[in-house]
Parts: sequence; C-alpha cells; structure tokens
Amino acid sequence: MDEAPVWAKRDAAVVWHGFTQMSSFTESTPIVVEGAEGHELIDVDGKRYLDAISSLWVNTLGHRVPELDEALREQLDRGAHSTMLGNSNQIVVELAEALASRVPVDDPHFLFAGDGASAVEQALKIAFQFWVNLGVEGRTTFLAFGGAYHGDTIGALSVGDGGFGTNVFDPLRFPVLRAPQFADPECFTTAARMVAEHAHELAAVIVEPLVQAAAGMQSAPAESFRVLGDACREHDVLLICDEVATGFGRTGTLFASEQCGLTPDLMAIGKGLTAGYLPQSATVASGRVFDAFLGPDLSDKTLYHGHSYSGNALACAVALRHIELIESRDVLANVCARSEELRALLDERIAPLAAVREVRLHGLMGGVELAPPEEDLKWGRRVCAAAVRRGVLLRPIGDVVVLMPPLTITPPELTRIVDALVASIAEVCR
Ligand SMILES: *Cc1c(COP(=O)(O)O)cnc(C)c1O
Repeated sequence: MDEAPVWAKRDAAVVWHGFTQMSSFTESTPIVVEGAEGHELIDVDGKRYLDAISSLWVNTLGHRVPELDEALREQLDRGAHSTMLGNSNQIVVELAEALASRVPVDDPHFLFAGDGASAVEQALKIAFQFWVNLGVEGRTTFLAFGGAYHGDTIGALSVGDGGFGTNVFDPLRFPVLRAPQFADPECFTTAARMVAEHAHELAAVIVEPLVQAAAGMQSAPAESFRVLGDACREHDVLLICDEVATGFGRTGTLFASEQCGLTPDLMAIGKGLTAGYLPQSATVASGRVFDAFLGPDLSDKTLYHGHSYSGNALACAVALRHIELIESRDVLANVCARSEELRALLDERIAPLAAVREVRLHGLMGGVELAPPEEDLKWGRRVCAAAVRRGVLLRPIGDVVVLMPPLTITPPELTRIVDALVASIAEVCR
C-alpha cells in the first residue's frame, strides 16, 4: 500500500506536466493511474476515482470499451501507421467518409493532425492561404472573441485571449481583432459589425460555438450566433468553428454548430474524436476552401503543411468505431437525459450554497463557479482536491469547478459526483 508517493517522486524526477507547477507537484497528491475501467481510474494503490473530467474532456464512452479495444486490436494486425503525405491508408478513407456525412460543413475534406491546437493552427494557415490562392490581397488578419481558448501553439495562442497564465508569451502573439466576451449580450452583433467594417482585411473569424470551455464554461444563447454566420457570409469572410471541446456529443448534438445554426467554412475537431483513446484531430475544410488549393503539381497553390502522425491508422480505427457506437448506443439521448438530471441536482443542492456564484451547464459540459470572499483562497483547487480524496477526480479552471463526465455517465454516478462536490464545498468554503 501507499505506492502513490513513491510513484509521484519518481515522476517528478523525470516528467514535466503541462499547466502544473512542478515544485509543488508531489505535495498536491496527484493521482498516479495504473489502470482504468468504465468510468473509473484506478491508481497504483488500487484506489478508484470517478473520472468526472473525462481525462481532461477527451473521454466519451468510458475507459476500456470492449468494442473500441477490439477496433484497435484489429487495426494492429493490419498496421499501426503509414504516412498520409502524398499517400493514403484504407482506414483513414473510411473514417473521413463516415465523418463527411455527419459534420455541418459543405462538401467536407479532412486534414488530420495530432492535437486540437494543431487542427486550429492548420485552419488559420488554410484561411490565410485561401485568399492568397484566390489572388485577393490584404486578407491577413483574424477576428476572435474575448475569453477564447484555441490551444497552446503560437498561432492558436494568438487567436486565444489573454489569461490562462500565458501572458508571458504576448510578445510572440500576432495581433488579431478582438470581439467582446460571450458574457456581453451584444457580443455577436458587435462582432458582426466588426466583420462588416474590417472584411477587406479579415481572412477569417474564429469562434467556439455555444460554449467557451476553457473560459470556465461561458456560453451564449444558441440563436445569438446566427448574426455572426450571416455577417461572414454577407461580407465573404471565412468562418472557423473550433469544436475541439464541444464536438462529438458533448453539448447534446453531435456538433454544437448545429444548435447555433452555423455552417463553418473550416472546423477544428479533436478531443472526443477518438473517444479519448489516442491523439488525433482534424481540420475540416468546405469544398469551396479545398478547391482554392487546386492547381498544377508542385505549384504554390499547394498547402505546404503536414504532421508526421497525421491520419494515424490506430487512431482512425478507434474514431471510426466510436462514431458507430455513438449512434448504436444512442449516446446523444443519454447526454440530454443525464444533463437534465444533473441540472436538477445542481439547482437543488449546489446553486443555493452561499459559496457558489453560478452554475452553468450545456449537455454534459458544466461549471460551478465558486464565490470566494477574498483572493488567493484557491477555493477551486482546494475543493477539487477534497473531491479527489472522496474518490471523484475533478480539476478546476481558477475558481470554476469543471464537471465533464463521460457521455455514458449513469444517474447513480451523477449523484456520486454531486455528493462529493457538496461535501467538498462544505469542507473547504467555510
Ligand atoms: C482543448 C482545446 C483546444 C486545444 O486542443 P489540444 O488537443 O489540447 O491541443 C483547442 N480549442 C478548444 C476549444 C479546446 O477546448
């Protein structure tokens, strides 16, 4: 017993964790996972934790799903990876065909990558070169929103808003036009006006449809996004929807763009694409965008961008079976039913607490914003640590406790999450 501190120490000697201060890593009692089963993670001491953040928002159907494991094993017997640069692979074609009939993009084409940030980066570069290929000058900038998060590479950071501890990189960010935060009820009419005024210099608008996850689950009403889509179409500015967090059923529809009435020219998908199994993302381009890159072989119309593991066969095999399971198991219906139950639980037991400022929930994307009476109390972090001690893995964004359970979560598990959260708030927020 008590192997965890030993492993944490071995870890800190050789591993570097993202968004983590390594000097206090071992003291903050990290869980060191040895295995997983269903919706639970099992640590090196055999202790079980409900994975209430879906392994940082990527997991959809739980861990060790027999059908997904089988899809991986079958693909292993065919070959794990072959390059997509100038060549192809059967399973990648099959996945792209399956996605093509389901994404809210016209005549879609898929450029695969590894992480969400890479998919965003690709979308930005494609949007930029699109105008160059058409011979249109001056379309070199982007419009993005307050509170936006699009990933951690330099291009993605540039369209992302400040904060998140990333201000040190400000000198590396390229300038963008910034529309207001989603909290501003006028943000989309303002953005639409900015699109009209600056169309001649805009390559694209980038937006997270429905919910800005990293901003602490900030959302805007679905119907309010339409004016933005209309403005982009009217003034011929490309629209990029970043569905890395919202895609694959998280908000109750396969993609949040559907609820928002948006048909993007470019879309970034990632996180849930492989059900949380393997790193894989994609930039989805409409036929119009794709066609602008057609020209003579080796000409400058080509997109000179590609990642080594683009279209990894194992990842594609899992992603393909995942799409089939989402439908055969009617996962979206579970998201909607569990979302209503979770809302009722949060309204009844969390929202009335004095320590809670606001409860936000869309599908199974939730945030409980705490209301610390003064700064530096670290309520978010301490409440989550208390929940982890109670066997529910949570990780906050500042003082927002994120609730992102797997899409197949059950009613008793929702109760287990809320029980742990109620007790943890009572313990920490006196
Ligand atoms: C997580 C996230 C990204 C970045 O994806 P990574 O796989 O972490 O690089 C981009 N956009 C949104 C909306 C995200 O939530």
